[in-house]
Amino acid sequence: MVRVRFAPSPTGYLHLGNARTALFNYIYGKHTGGKLILRIEDTDRERSKKEFEDLLIDDLKWLGIEWDEGPDVGGDYGPYRQSERNEIYKEYVEKLKNSGHVYKCFCTPEELEEERKKALSEGRPPRYSGKCRNLTEEDIKDYEQEGKPYVWRFRVPDGEFIIFEDLIKGTVEINVDEFGDFVIVRSDGSPVYNFVVVVDDALMKITHVIRGEDHLSNTPKQILIYRALNFNEPKFAHLPIILGEDRSKLSKRHGAVSVRAFRDDGYVSEAMFNGLSLLGWHPKGDNEVLDKDEIIKEFDIEDVHNAPAVFDRAKLKWLNGVYIREKLDIDDLTQRAVPFFEGFGYKADFDYYKKVLLAIRDSLETLMDIEERAKPFFVDEFHYDEEAQKYLKEEEGYKVIQVFYDNLKELDSIDRSTFKSITKKIQKDLGVKGKGLFMPIRSALTGTTSGVDIALLVEVIGIERVKERIKRALEYFG
Ligand code: GLU
Repeated sequence: MVRVRFAPSPTGYLHLGNARTALFNYIYGKHTGGKLILRIEDTDRERSKKEFEDLLIDDLKWLGIEWDEGPDVGGDYGPYRQSERNEIYKEYVEKLKNSGHVYKCFCTPEELEEERKKALSEGRPPRYSGKCRNLTEEDIKDYEQEGKPYVWRFRVPDGEFIIFEDLIKGTVEINVDEFGDFVIVRSDGSPVYNFVVVVDDALMKITHVIRGEDHLSNTPKQILIYRALNFNEPKFAHLPIILGEDRSKLSKRHGAVSVRAFRDDGYVSEAMFNGLSLLGWHPKGDNEVLDKDEIIKEFDIEDVHNAPAVFDRAKLKWLNGVYIREKLDIDDLTQRAVPFFEGFGYKADFDYYKKVLLAIRDSLETLMDIEERAKPFFVDEFHYDEEAQKYLKEEEGYKVIQVFYDNLKELDSIDRSTFKSITKKIQKDLGVKGKGLFMPIRSALTGTTSGVDIALLVEVIGIERVKERIKRALEYFG
C-alpha cells in the first residue's frame, strides 16, 4: 500500500513549487490506489502561523487535492502537526543517545564560525571538525557545571558513501564527508527538521517521499538516521527544480508565484491542476489538456523528468482560457465568476450573470477579463471613444442609428433574430452594409468599436436599455 505525504511548513502562501509537490504526491497516491497524508511542519515556531496553515489547506482543497489523513481529518498515525509531536521526538532522541549515535557538542557559535571561515579560506567544504566527538566524561561534566549550552550531534561514520536509487534522479551517491556530524537537537532542546522528518515519515509509514530537489542534500542525512533507528527506508523521488523563462529559479521576480495570486487573478482550479501537472511531466500524446482523472490514469512517478521544469506563464493562461471556454459547465462557471462580477461592481442576479457569460465566454482567458468584456452588459452611462465618435458624427452613421431607433420604437422585446432582421431591413432601406451598418450601432450601444457580439448584447440587456442607449447617442450626436 503506497503512502505518500505532503509536508508543508505554514510560513507563507502555497507557492507553485510546493503546490506541484502536493499535486504529484496526490496524483501518485491516486494512481497507485494509495493514501495521501498531510503533515504540517510547524517546528519553526516564529515563522509558522495557524493562519498560514488554514490558507494552505484552503488552497490545496481549491486545487482539488484531497488527503486521507491530516490535522483537519485525523487518522491513525497522528498527531499531524509537528508541534504536537514533541513527546514522540523525545523518545527517539533518547534511542539515539542510548545507541551512541549522538553526542553532546559544546562548541559555541563563534567557534563554529571560526572553523567555517578557516575551512573556506583553505578551500575545504565547511563542516564540523568533530572537536566534541570524543570528549571524556570529565570534560562533559566540567562544561555542564559551567552551564555551557550544548547541542546533540549525529556521529557520521567517516568516509562512508550513501547510495540510493531516486525514482527520478536515478542512482544518487553522496560522500558523508561532504557534511560531517550534524545537529539533531538544538541547544534549546528543539529537534531539527532532518531528524523529525525521519521520525514522522517512519511512524506514519510513508512508503514514498516525493519532494522538491532542494531537499536532495538532506536525504543522505535522513538515511543515516533511518539506519540508526532501524527504520525501513522509504523510496525517494526528488522533483526537478522549477525555473522562470529566463532560466533562473522561479521566484517573485517572475511575477505571481502563489496559488492564491493565480486564484485572485481569475484562474480556475482545473487549469491550475492541469498546468502544474506539466511542470516536470508530460503525457504520452501531444494533447496537453487533460483533466484530473486522465492525469491520474497516465501519470507515473518514474516518468517525471530529471531536467529542470520551465514555468510557462503564457501557456498556463492559454490553458485557463480553454477550461473557461470549453470545459466548464456554464452554471459552474457562473458560480465561480460571481465574486468577480461583484468585485467589479457589476450587480445582477445569477441568471443575468449566466447570460452574460454565455455571450462573452468565448473571449475570456481569465475571470479577470470579465471586467472589460462584461462592461457593456452593466454600464449604461459610458463615454464614447474616439473611433466610436467618428462613426456617430458622420451623417451616414447617425442616419443608421436613427433608422435603427425607428425600428425599435414599436418593439417590447428583442432577441438576436429580431436584431438580425432589423439590421437586414436597414441594409436594404439605406443601402449600407458591413462596418458602415454595424459600427454605428455598436458605437451607440457600447461606446466603442470592438468587443462583444452585438446581437447577443441586445438580447441580454433587453429592449428598454437598447432604446435608452440609442436615444442617448441620438441626443449626444444630434
Ligand atoms: N517542510 C518541508 C518544506 O516545506 C518539506 C520537507 C519534506 O518534504 O521532507 O520544504
